[in-house]
Amino acid sequence: MNVMDIFETMEYGPAPEAPTPALEWIQERQPFGLFINNRWVKPASGQYLDSINPSTGKPLAQIAAANSADVDTAVSAARTAFESWGKTPGHVRARYLYAIARHIQKHSRLLAVLESLDNGKSIRETRDLDIPLVARHFYYHAGWAQLMAAELPGYEPVGVVGQIIPWNFPLLMLAWKIAPALAMGNTVVLKPARYTSLTALKFAEIMQEIGLPAGVVNILTGEASQVGEALVRHPGVNKIAFTGSTDVGRSIRRATAGSGKKLSLELGGKSPFIVFDDADLDSVVEGVVDAIWFNQGQVCCAGSRLLVQEDIAERLVNKLRARMEKLRIGDPLDKAVDMGAIVSPGQLQEIQRLVSQGVEEGAEIWQPSWACPTEGYFFPPTLFTNVSPATTIAQVEIFGPVLVAMTFRTPAEAVALANNTRYGLAASVWSENINLALDVAPKLKAGSVWINCTNMFDASSGFGGYRESGFGREGGKEGLYEYVRPAWEKVVSIATTASPSSNGSSPSAGEPANGGQFTAPGEMIDSSNGFTPTFPPIDRTPKMFIKGKQVRPDSGYSQDVYDPEQRVIGQVGEGNRKDIRNAVEAAHAASGWAAGTTHNRAQILYYMAENLAVREDEFARRILQQTGRPYADAASEVQVTISRLFSYAAWADKYEGAVHRPPLRGVVLAMKEPIGVIGMVCSDEYPLLGFISLVAPAIAMGNTVVVIPSQRSPLSATDCYQVFETSDLPAGVVNIVTGQRDTLSQVLAEHDDVDAMWYFGSADGSKRVELASAGNMKRTWVNYGHPRNWLDSVQGEGEEFLRESTQVKNIWVPYGE
Ligand code: NAD
Ligand code: MN
Repeated sequence: MNVMDIFETMEYGPAPEAPTPALEWIQERQPFGLFINNRWVKPASGQYLDSINPSTGKPLAQIAAANSADVDTAVSAARTAFESWGKTPGHVRARYLYAIARHIQKHSRLLAVLESLDNGKSIRETRDLDIPLVARHFYYHAGWAQLMAAELPGYEPVGVVGQIIPWNFPLLMLAWKIAPALAMGNTVVLKPARYTSLTALKFAEIMQEIGLPAGVVNILTGEASQVGEALVRHPGVNKIAFTGSTDVGRSIRRATAGSGKKLSLELGGKSPFIVFDDADLDSVVEGVVDAIWFNQGQVCCAGSRLLVQEDIAERLVNKLRARMEKLRIGDPLDKAVDMGAIVSPGQLQEIQRLVSQGVEEGAEIWQPSWACPTEGYFFPPTLFTNVSPATTIAQVEIFGPVLVAMTFRTPAEAVALANNTRYGLAASVWSENINLALDVAPKLKAGSVWINCTNMFDASSGFGGYRESGFGREGGKEGLYEYVRPAWEKVVSIATTASPSSNGSSPSAGEPANGGQFTAPGEMIDSSNGFTPTFPPIDRTPKMFIKGKQVRPDSGYSQDVYDPEQRVIGQVGEGNRKDIRNAVEAAHAASGWAAGTTHNRAQILYYMAENLAVREDEFARRILQQTGRPYADAASEVQVTISRLFSYAAWADKYEGAVHRPPLRGVVLAMKEPIGVIGMVCSDEYPLLGFISLVAPAIAMGNTVVVIPSQRSPLSATDCYQVFETSDLPAGVVNIVTGQRDTLSQVLAEHDDVDAMWYFGSADGSKRVELASAGNMKRTWVNYGHPRNWLDSVQGEGEEFLRESTQVKNIWVPYGE
């Protein structure tokens, strides 16, 4: 080719990065061992696996195949290390994290080349994106280690954390897992993905280099069925943090149900990329390239559904095809290459299978005219048009460089189409009209919304899903709570609290479970001891409370409510599946509650407090009648309940989000959004306070609720109907179904239109709720049968309740022309 030819074609020449240093690094060390207690050890099985270079299909390195015996060893190393690491001052942990960040930067080129060789992704991406973000994550979390004592008072580390990561961003996912875990004082056993372990092993070397205490980080390579499952089931593990597919996430939810292990799940997605007709189409084209051809589309938050306003669809599709024709695919180590290889032959086949299915389903396929390299696992950028929203390729995560395009006419249609998925990881909105973009962003059910940009990540801004994309956040302050727990939990779950209603004469509820830190209820009210009530039996049968109306139970049955002497004091309706369904429907229909002002919600909570105060005596007597506790004690429960309503009225307009400043020109608005419909099951202790303590924070944050009140003492909750009715609470915001707690909670937990489930009851009931919730991956908050002192202002109210009532959406708003 002569100079004139080059001028004509403007072709890029190859600009290969040398693989030699990375290959030498591998040669000197393989076969790799397992990293336990800061030492390299042979796997118990004595077996090794090949790690493949996907761009050639040839073996790259031999890695150890760990099994459950190695998991035992690693978990006990992490347990021993936790004894001291968990108590290491934040400043010391900060220094280690800072050292990790520095060493990542020192070894950045080796890490970038290794990642590219092992995963098949382009060096341009590993060098400019993966590795810098890894370093940034450790720097950012060094800061949180330093600030933990001041910023998270009353919290402690969870303990030993099992972490399981996918192959698409091997080192970055490791960083997202390990940095917050160490910052908060936990120790770690991490399993990299089967295909991509090498950068994790280089990371292990860095742990040795910086002198991290032995056992704080342990790395086990191997097969999912050997290592992953053993880690998930190991009784010595206190938390599982998982990133991967929704199916495996669901099986982990089931496997850990009832175990008390904390769990965070970052799962799949089918994220919408919405283009309005006033968008800057040239930017949109580059956006699409980043959204779906970045990392060969093997990105959980890939913008894989292109939703275009009808009038510009043809123009955009033509521009896209022209751009696709120019994409360069090939050797990942060539710096002029846009797209590398697919991680494995299995993954390649899966992409091919789904693409054929798309063709069969009648969508129109388009691929560039050039051919992919034949050596290695390559797949060309692919665009489907004429896709109908219900087809497989429009619904299923393909996890490859395949974009499906659909059209819409109005913004409302765009939102409906965008949310027409079981996932909710991310969304991208393109319009030059900022009013339109900021109107649409809150309506999208997704953890990240990118306005006129896409696939933006930063440690300061939490990442994670809505709906079946999982729960929990990585990054940001919100991500830290995945790795801590309230310090009081340990104290209380070891102590045994007597049930307050178990004894007719003694105010056992007020007796502290842990050595005197609680307020005895009697103290709050100045009462004489001589009150001996005599009541005629009350014959009142409250109905269900659904959609603001008192309705008869569908079953037509009632069940008796007893006092502690086993005398019948009333009946309540026996709710069934149908009542729950109606209640959930009503709660859904009341979603306008979230759109109202926080001021309005605060006003209604104050109004509820006011109306409860008017009837204080009646409510106290009702508690007394159901529980046999002394009047003063019952009256004080009412007092605390009124105060609790005030607390959440106060919080309603104060539990706000944040504005992050990641390193870009722009801002990220971290909005605390309600979760949606929350199903809640109340404890038997404190029939009134236990009920309001759950309902008030949830509705203060804009959720609507379906509540199953205490089964033993439901009348305090049903007495609240009149309080709700007189407090301007809109119909459907609070719905109450009485009856068999565990039967009804099962129905609620299985319901696909319930977004979160809170359960305060038995250990067994907790387990069943966690199991049943795996269906739509709803968030759960259960007590595993452990007591909680509802009177105590630390245990009974506050930020923990608010956090459980909200999920953070990060809206990225870049600016500048
Ligand atoms: P995967 O679920 O098959 O595997 C993920 C990890 O879990 C691997 O380390 C694997 O070995 C392990 N694993 C598999 N089965 C297991 C089991 N039964 N018990 C314990 N561990 C088990 O997913 P993948 O194919 O490696 O990754 C692709 C998926 O990950 C996609 O669905 C993608 O959307 C998702 N992903 C999500 C995020 C996010 O942050 N939400 C990020 C990256 C990838
Ligand atoms: Mn590999």
